[in-house]
Amino acid sequence: MRKIQMVDLGGQYEGIKDQINSALVNIMETSAFINGPEVHAFQKELEDYLGVKHVIPCANGTDALQIAMMGLGLKPGDEVITADFTFAATVEVIALLQLTPVLVDVDPETFNIDLAAVERSITPKTKAIVPVHLFGQCADMDAILALAEKHDLYVIEDNAQAIGASYTFKNGDKQKSGAMGHVGATSFFPSKNLGCYGDGGAIFTNDDTLAHRLRGIVNHGMYERYHHDVVGVNSRLDSIQAAVLRAKLPKLDEYCNRRREAADKYSAAFYGQENIVLPRTNHTCKDGNDTCDCHVFHQYTLRITNGKRDALVTHLGEKNIPCGVYYPIPLHRQKAYADTRYDEKDFAVTNQLVEEVISLPMHTELDDEQIAFISSTVIGFVNA
Ligand SMILES: *Cc1c(COP(=O)(O)O)cnc(C)c1O
Repeated sequence: MRKIQMVDLGGQYEGIKDQINSALVNIMETSAFINGPEVHAFQKELEDYLGVKHVIPCANGTDALQIAMMGLGLKPGDEVITADFTFAATVEVIALLQLTPVLVDVDPETFNIDLAAVERSITPKTKAIVPVHLFGQCADMDAILALAEKHDLYVIEDNAQAIGASYTFKNGDKQKSGAMGHVGATSFFPSKNLGCYGDGGAIFTNDDTLAHRLRGIVNHGMYERYHHDVVGVNSRLDSIQAAVLRAKLPKLDEYCNRRREAADKYSAAFYGQENIVLPRTNHTCKDGNDTCDCHVFHQYTLRITNGKRDALVTHLGEKNIPCGVYYPIPLHRQKAYADTRYDEKDFAVTNQLVEEVISLPMHTELDDEQIAFISSTVIGFVNA
């Protein structure tokens, strides 16, 4: 059996080596390292893929979130609601801009933001909701967009883990994740579903005025050379990363399919097992067959409900099976984000998830033998 990896970027590179190598050599030879033709071409190709009017490339996913919030003109003291169970970048940029983060609990089955908790947290100071499409599946955008409209709030999608996923609205309309809210942010960190070979990110919007503002903010607030109209940042996607992304974008759907196939095999193996809760897919698209693209499995995350999660992590390590615990500490209990406003009983789900979740190896190169070995090892240990 091949060595099992959490993410197999080397194996994926083998399949696209020729395109990547020649694209990189071309950049070296033309020396258009920043804002070169590759960046513009990638921007257009991603706009087409997502069906969104504007893609604004930037340096990483964290910047993408920050710049989105700057572009919307959010001001110190404005409250921004987001999930307690996510990567820290989401709440970090809210705090950095001196906005007030309002963390709320999540749904125990999809791990995405709990709509009832969002609604309870809305105050006259609330300006935005940041749903995080965690582990590759969209949050309940029908409900989130309706709530936002009712209360006149911005919706900023944190799409770092879900690029390539779709969401089907109740009226049957289908859209790509990241293109549904007022603005979306994504990351091209190497291990993300569309990853480059360094750092990268992008902001998406259908709003022309906002897009113009964002394009200035990423470039020192400059709309005309050496005229600085607003305070901006320096956040660029470099040409080398754009070239890698151009080679991978045409394969993104195939990559997502391979992740989904691996997830289906895991789920078939774990189905009906006591003490193991499978990740739930919304299947808002209602087709439930292999064309369903509502979950792109950035992570395949189980819940181990008999208290053996930590022991399982150790056991898998001994068997040379890598795994991850995303996330081991709720944000409301992190030193940087703890606040007397928070009440532990409002975070019952997140507090339970951090004790139960485990993410198994998930990437485009997993084979049947590896999946069978991983799942039988997990079952053998949890239900021994
Ligand atoms: C990875 C990630 C980010 C940050 O992306 P970077 O490119 O690493 O800055 C933000 N939010 C979520 C949910 C992520 O998973």
